[in-house]
Amino acid sequence: MASIRNTCLLLWTSLVIFASGHTAQINVNLPRSLSSKPSVCTSTLIANGNLIDTKTKKSWLADILVRDGRVAAIKKAGSIPKHLASQVVDATGLFVTPGLVDLHTHIYWGATYWGIEADPVAARSGVTTWNDAGSSGAYTFPGLRIKVRMDSDATSGSGLEGLKRARQVADKTKLPIMVHIGHTPPVIEDIAEYLGKGDILTHCFNGHENRLIDNSGKLRPVVHTLKSKGVHFDIGHGGGSFDYTVAEKMIADGFMPDSVSSDLHQISTLGSAQDLPTVLSKLLNLGIPLEELIAKATLVPARIIGHPELGRLQVGGPADIAIFRLEHGQFHFTDNAGNKRNGTMRIVNTHTFRDGIPMPHVEAEPAASWAIRDAGVVSGVKPPTM
Ligand SMILES: [Zn+2]
Repeated sequence: MASIRNTCLLLWTSLVIFASGHTAQINVNLPRSLSSKPSVCTSTLIANGNLIDTKTKKSWLADILVRDGRVAAIKKAGSIPKHLASQVVDATGLFVTPGLVDLHTHIYWGATYWGIEADPVAARSGVTTWNDAGSSGAYTFPGLRIKVRMDSDATSGSGLEGLKRARQVADKTKLPIMVHIGHTPPVIEDIAEYLGKGDILTHCFNGHENRLIDNSGKLRPVVHTLKSKGVHFDIGHGGGSFDYTVAEKMIADGFMPDSVSSDLHQISTLGSAQDLPTVLSKLLNLGIPLEELIAKATLVPARIIGHPELGRLQVGGPADIAIFRLEHGQFHFTDNAGNKRNGTMRIVNTHTFRDGIPMPHVEAEPAASWAIRDAGVVSGVKPPTM
């Protein structure tokens, strides 16, 4: 793992799980190449961009001055003199956002089956905070502080036991649980019994037995139960958990996910998830406004992981900044079930700043041999369920 800002607590079963959150929250990952503070004074003016305010969900033309890794000033476009900065980035026609916060990823690279190397993807996707949703397991205990993991064979026949124990630990540690849903058993109604305020249900658009719509395409009553309890609904696209036919019906029935995450891992990066901007682009074409989406990939997950200082840009705050071009044209997207959709918009990352420093575009390590071997199942009949 490149760097961890906080101690870690992971709980995992095949149904399920991990606990993340506040003091013992998981892997807010500092990109490897930028893991030390810059040694020279640097200042950058990001000029004339459409700044998306993730709190008001509105955008306005602004200049942003970045100095020594912090946001030094945010003012109306054209009002910050260029000579105040050592470099100027012309963001005319581009959207400027806080660095994206990806709530569900797998970045325990070099040590686990799922983990990818975060830096190369971060530099081209605008994701400056990565929350690892459980990449470690029985063979890699030393990599995380506390870890309980059962694979599908191990949980077979043990029902909800893993979740019950996770609930006990989460209550004691005051941490939220993230629950992965997909295949049954157990059914979502039974899982819901153990979830409460602040917990996270990921893979909310999955198309498996635990999909959140009934046979008539309407939201299952348990969705309303969970919403009323204060459970967060997360996307977690991944390699097998995003189904257009489910997403479209849920949105049509009034559902809105709380957070948008990629569930990037060795397999999903080779499949249709690709990266967080691609997942955001899919949802943009399903009718969710850009400003709403950016808030769901910045402000909301930052609060969920207990880092409200991330996920919004404000004077004095960290200069984790992403810049995107909103392209118009004809674009093709695919989900994990092989359903194809055409879209007219696409979000493309152009710059990523971590602590005010532009992240260099570096060549990614080749995909792991086992990922190439196993990626064939991504769009087939038996996708992985991570
Ligand atoms: Zn996952």
